Amino acid sequence: MIERVDVAADVVIVGAGIVGAACARALARAGARVTVLDRVAAASATSAHGEGNLLVSDKGPGPELELAKVSLRRWAHLADELADELGPLFPSIEHEAKGGLVVVTSADGLDGLRGFAEAQRAAGVEAVEVTAEQARELEPDLAPGVVGAVYYPQDAQVQPVAAAEALLASARRAGAVVRTEVEVTGPLLGDGGRLTGVATTRGEVSAGAVVVAAGPWSAEVAERLGARIAVRPRRGMVLVTTPMRQRVRHKVYDGDYFAATQSAGAELQTSAVIESTRGGTVLIGSSREQVGFDDRLSTQVLAQLARRAVAVFPFLARTNVMRSYLGFRPYMPDHLPVIGPDPALPGLWFATGHEGAGVGLAPATGDLLAAGMLGLAAAVDPRPYAVDRPTLRPRVAHGEALA
Ligand SMILES: Cc1cc2nc3c(=O)[nH]c(=O)nc-3n(C[C@H](O)[C@H](O)[C@H](O)COP(=O)(O)OP(=O)(O)OC[C@H]3O[C@@H](n4cnc5c(N)ncnc54)[C@H](O)[C@@H]3O)c2cc1C
Repeated sequence: MIERVDVAADVVIVGAGIVGAACARALARAGARVTVLDRVAAASATSAHGEGNLLVSDKGPGPELELAKVSLRRWAHLADELADELGPLFPSIEHEAKGGLVVVTSADGLDGLRGFAEAQRAAGVEAVEVTAEQARELEPDLAPGVVGAVYYPQDAQVQPVAAAEALLASARRAGAVVRTEVEVTGPLLGDGGRLTGVATTRGEVSAGAVVVAAGPWSAEVAERLGARIAVRPRRGMVLVTTPMRQRVRHKVYDGDYFAATQSAGAELQTSAVIESTRGGTVLIGSSREQVGFDDRLSTQVLAQLARRAVAVFPFLARTNVMRSYLGFRPYMPDHLPVIGPDPALPGLWFATGHEGAGVGLAPATGDLLAAGMLGLAAAVDPRPYAVDRPTLRPRVAHGEALA
């Protein structure tokens, strides 16, 4: 039986990234008194070091796709809601419902993509197979080697930092307090070992419930509070071109991207995910590798990203790269976020482990968490995201959480 949180209780959220921001907004608007704590500036960690893809196209049938479908619909409304609420002086979240185009360069690749799209269609995704010629009508600069593609009209994008800041601003308007440069260091425990708040570098903060939304650092925060969760960092790098006339109209990626998102391997994987931004730059992502929190950029990885992008859009070979950056995805071994209470430590909740989809999944995560905490109706079944789900149990039992 899940213990509900009194709607008037104080909720502390650890982490002011896009996930913490979405949770803060959902909880504050439902009437909870929310305090968000972050050890650095808001929206400055993983949420500032990724891309803003909101994708259904890379998700096979299952709970992640169900969450994504709900979340992408929420983003489309949120863009207007936040603009109305925050006014014209607040930066736009740059929501663009531009659609995604997954391209392949071989007959085998096309077979695989076709089968995948068919399964997605059965799960309610709009996935339209297009010929190579039609793909070139959508993207005139595609490489001649492209033999086919699937178009996903539901794919979209936002600017993640602006989106996180807007969600936090909206949460503040609903009464939430956001405190930065406050690091959570330990638990406050009450009767029966219940979590009643957190110790921080700026003193103690009492709360009826604590939510860990600390991205790739969630295992460390959980451990400080006396709990375990199997989140690990998965490094990713991105190239950014100089601004140019728009030549990439959709989110375009090669069919390998899906394999990379679903793999569990620690070794380096790259695939081309290419999109333009409102500022005129083109973002070229992304790599995946498990190397802990090693924050050194690798020219080998960046070169591989560039090669893959040029194989999709040859004109990029003549484009200048303005900068590159990296971030750490909050990786779960079973590729699903954790959204819900910790059964072992009363008062502790999680909203974390979204790996490469935290921006896309943030609104539905906030709603699902608030529904669970406050006993409201939820748009999706919460059980697949539980921390004690069968696919995570052996890993926690063997201490993988603390690796
Ligand atoms: C290269 C790359 C590309 C990506 N592309 C996409 C994409 O296109 N679409 C998409 O949906 N997702 C993408 N992602 C994933 C997405 O960025 C993440 O899933 C998302 O940002 C996670 O947000 P978060 O709020 O959970 O974590 P974060 O943004 O990391 O926020 C966690 C916060 O917790 C704080 N914190 C940690 N420890 C403590 C402590 N002890 N006390 C207080 N605060 C603490 C941190 O300072 C941080 O601000 C990408 C990621 C990478 C790296």
